[in-house]
Amino acid sequence: MPDEIEEIQRALEKAAEGIKTPQDLQRFKEEFLSRKKGKITSLFKRIGSLPPGERSSFGRRVNQLRELAENLYKKAEKSLKEEGWKEKLRKIIPDPTLPGFHKKIPPLHPISEISHRIEEIFLRMGYDIEDGPEVETEYYNFDALNIPPHHPARQEQDTFFLGKSLILRTHTSPVQIRAMRRRKPPIRIIVPGRVYRRDEADPTHTPMFYQIEGLVVERGISFAHLKGTLETFLKALFGEETRVRFRPSYFPFTEPSAEVDISCPVCGGTDPHCSVCGGSGWIEILGSGMVHPQVLKAGGIDPEEYSGFAFGLGVDRISMLWRGISDIRNHYWNRLDFLEQMK
Ligand SMILES: [Zn+2]
Repeated sequence: MPDEIEEIQRALEKAAEGIKTPQDLQRFKEEFLSRKKGKITSLFKRIGSLPPGERSSFGRRVNQLRELAENLYKKAEKSLKEEGWKEKLRKIIPDPTLPGFHKKIPPLHPISEISHRIEEIFLRMGYDIEDGPEVETEYYNFDALNIPPHHPARQEQDTFFLGKSLILRTHTSPVQIRAMRRRKPPIRIIVPGRVYRRDEADPTHTPMFYQIEGLVVERGISFAHLKGTLETFLKALFGEETRVRFRPSYFPFTEPSAEVDISCPVCGGTDPHCSVCGGSGWIEILGSGMVHPQVLKAGGIDPEEYSGFAFGLGVDRISMLWRGISDIRNHYWNRLDFLEQMK
């Protein structure tokens, strides 16, 4: 008889381990604990037929077995309930271990991207970024930059007039004067910003575009500093293999002045039919020169004591070169199909 108790105990423990669903739990209850035909109940029923000396110890062991069965039943019931809750929670609370949804981060506008690249290069060289108003006075935009009222350069830069001597700035150069008046040398700044000219929009012109201006004013600044700085900058932007060429030029606010060309970043001068350089192997990239003494004076700086250089470049033009964009107006049409290619 005691063997049978042990056998039932083993069956009971095995069955308890296998309880995974409410149906399993119900079957467990019926098999072991049911008052009518449960295995433990049938053991109790047998007590009466045992010799009187064995009844109490047998009864005690069956009682222990029932206790065990009831405990296992409660434990299984509890864990099934918990599982049920977890299942319900899983439905309302997202599983934090699942891979996340990838939010598409839109690319920067090509103008912003190029501006940031250029700014980073000059920030590394110790320059500050300066800002100035887009609505300017004629004085800051022209006179202070050595462009007097009847100077032909005023006619070349078709200007938006806003009334009495106020205009939309035609270049970022007026910020040179504002910065010189506000800061003391040494001055090392770049000035990114919007400029305006009354041009008809076509594939190479828009009435608003972006420039970045640079200005350095210190004691003993020479043309060698200008060359070294611009070569370093252009190689950092277009690649170490880029060659840089200076051509004499004329600007009212610099003397001497130079146009700066880079070797064609597309063909490197090897393709006579290259659409970017037209086969010449060179691309005009910026204007530069030593700051004119009159401009230093307008900025409140003594040209006998200080000298400086300045340069200016068109961000749109560089963006077009960089991205192979054939029409400048693409920058401003707000066309998603164009902008989404800028990744
Ligand atoms: Zn080329």
